[in-house]
Amino acid sequence: MPKPLMETYSPPDLVFERGEGVFLHERGGEEYLDFISGIAVNSLGHNHPKLVSALKDQADRLWHTSNMFRVPGQIELAEKYCRDSFADRVFFTNSGTEAIEAAIKTARHWHFANGRPDRYRIITFTGAFHGRSYGAINAGGNPKYLEGFGPRMEGFDQVEFGDHQAMRDAVTEETAAILVEPVQGEGGVRALPDVCLRGLRELCDEHGLLLIYDEVQCGAGRTGKMWAHEWAGSARPDIMAVAKGVGGGFPMGACLTTDEAGAHMVVGTHGSTFGGNPLAMAVGNAVYDVMSAPGFLDGVTDIANYLGQQLSGLADRHSDKVEEVRGRGLLLGLKLRDGYVNKTLAKLARDHHLLIGAAGDNVARMAPPLIIEQAHVRQAVETLDAALGELAAE
Ligand SMILES: *Cc1c(COP(=O)(O)O)cnc(C)c1O
Repeated sequence: MPKPLMETYSPPDLVFERGEGVFLHERGGEEYLDFISGIAVNSLGHNHPKLVSALKDQADRLWHTSNMFRVPGQIELAEKYCRDSFADRVFFTNSGTEAIEAAIKTARHWHFANGRPDRYRIITFTGAFHGRSYGAINAGGNPKYLEGFGPRMEGFDQVEFGDHQAMRDAVTEETAAILVEPVQGEGGVRALPDVCLRGLRELCDEHGLLLIYDEVQCGAGRTGKMWAHEWAGSARPDIMAVAKGVGGGFPMGACLTTDEAGAHMVVGTHGSTFGGNPLAMAVGNAVYDVMSAPGFLDGVTDIANYLGQQLSGLADRHSDKVEEVRGRGLLLGLKLRDGYVNKTLAKLARDHHLLIGAAGDNVARMAPPLIIEQAHVRQAVETLDAALGELAAE
């Protein structure tokens, strides 16, 4: 039967027509507790009044001018990002993949401008995910995403997740940068230990490499700091890609750099028609204002600790099926034992009106809105308890 959509997804037979806070409402009124939030995107939940009014106000005034003209909202948001982080420069994009593309181009171009065009290789860890553009699938290195799309792109090397000696050995005269997610999302909800991030920073300093963080999924308050790497103190990046939660549901992303790393991205080196458009900037500013208000991120840490404890208890009760709890802050996963399937658990949870996701390495993934409360955690854990009870080996 001819169908109008490419079959790149296989969604369940379920249509949501309204969201409110931590809940999604199906046509007909059935309510679901949303513990995946559009894959870490609806960071402030659904229908947040401040985001709605920011978007409506902007929609009444001006939608788009392109970057041919200054967009004041870009300057405002870039100033906020830079005020509170390692960064001095920002380039706005529409998505995470584009933020990664900008990051890779910035790193390669920095060496080029410094007279070393031969330094273009980028090292990543296994399990990495950086998006679906041609550059991003090559950086991510997942054979499933690369197969069937022509020759691999030159310039990416990969070493075992967290293996510092392998990373050290992989650095050559041609290496430009190291690219890592402080907490891997797609690859199985694995947090890199803080000491590992600090080690990468030292390695980069030693060899004149740029350190790039992909905080598309783990950034924007999700771990209880605005950016996940901030837990590791001195392990600041030179370049960072962000997206997903920074727009709270409006498609936007950004590539942040230090003055030094971004200095050579001048007129003509990069661009985007839609990136940083007034609608996106209105919402992006509103999201950032809510998240950076005093106490907000501490609240995220508190509720994340509560969820983490509850999930540990759950994992103990179902230790025949759950191997461990993984992740950091409100990006958490249940790694299932062999024979039990993460997608089946997600389906069972959905049958009980709890929405969770699946990640690589047989992990059931949770990324609830940052505004969840203890009652939501208890409801989710009770549901998971029932779903795990029903989960059969396959
Ligand atoms: C989702 C994701 C991307 C890609 O973002 P898109 O907005 O889907 O292009 C890149 N990196 C990480 C870590 C992600 O989780």
